[in-house]
Amino acid sequence: MTVYQEIFDEIQKAEKIVITSHRSPDGDSIGCSMGLYQFICKLGKTVHVVHPDKAPGFLQWVQDVHQIEIYDEEKERTAELITSADLLFSLDYNAPDRVGPEMEIFLRTSKARKIVIDHHLNPDLEFYDVVYSDTYTGSTSELIFRLIEGCGKLDLLDSAVGTPLYLGIMTDTGSFRFPSVSPETHETLAKLMRAGVKHYEVHEQVFDTNTLDRLKLRGFATSEKIEVIQDLPVAFISLTSEELNKFNYEKGDTEGLVNMALSIQGIKMAALFSEKDGVIKISLRSKGEQIVNVMAKELFDGGGHKYASGGIFYGSLSDAVDRFKNNLSKYWSA
Ligand code: 5GP
Ligand code: MN
Repeated sequence: MTVYQEIFDEIQKAEKIVITSHRSPDGDSIGCSMGLYQFICKLGKTVHVVHPDKAPGFLQWVQDVHQIEIYDEEKERTAELITSADLLFSLDYNAPDRVGPEMEIFLRTSKARKIVIDHHLNPDLEFYDVVYSDTYTGSTSELIFRLIEGCGKLDLLDSAVGTPLYLGIMTDTGSFRFPSVSPETHETLAKLMRAGVKHYEVHEQVFDTNTLDRLKLRGFATSEKIEVIQDLPVAFISLTSEELNKFNYEKGDTEGLVNMALSIQGIKMAALFSEKDGVIKISLRSKGEQIVNVMAKELFDGGGHKYASGGIFYGSLSDAVDRFKNNLSKYWSA
């Protein structure tokens, strides 16, 4: 039996299905959650989506996104949904700690069958009953498409199911440009378009809806805050909470900013340090030679993909930057 059939059988058997995804939602976590949600609804089953925290504004247009129940906002109700579920999906994350320490407890105590569908390295094989992990694929949304195709249910693919999947594939592949994009990715996109997905609307919703503040913040960050490390092809941006507040920062406003630093000719690795909610959030990116997730893990208690990872630092912004600069050569392979 294929993993697709196995997952489909689990869905058919289940009565209380809950879909979860990681903290700090992005296009892929929203895309794969809502794609699977719409698909399971079309099967005539009841399903809930529980995320640890709310999606940023640039993802609020997604159909039925308001159906997502937020752990941070409704702890009792969402904890009850998770603990009483008989089937739990972990989408776009590899281990229960990625939902945050509080919600993690309920995942761990839930008696539900647990399925992980993900493209991050090292899925927690002990925790999950069914593992559909493919670290070569650019997005979990693409894996959800394969699941639908693999269990012979493409007849249920329409724009409600397909649009969030297109969103997830688009955002996690940097608009179809990263090495993880395959011929199959483009075949998937073609099938999504034939099913009624209006690709231009997704691009417009994500990329052409800047607020003036957001655009000005990006202008400020690129004109005043990019630093290039001497003797290494590394650039970084750091933003204090005062600087973010000056531009009325809203969640999602720094999305993609690290790629501006990475886009500089000759630069091979880039970092973004931003002071948010009293901690320093770090994003690391590389053009495909340097692996950044080991650095994210060892220096900033984080992880992620080989060429796109992130982490956190408890301390001052300048200490975080110093930690990065002082250890850089250790991780740098020429
Ligand atoms: P971003 O820089 O967009 O916040 O995150 C890029 C990738 O790094 C995410 O897709 C995720 O895989 C990973 N990542 C970001 N923050 C963390 C973190 O705090 N812990 C872990 N384990 N991974 C993270
Ligand atoms: Mn993803």
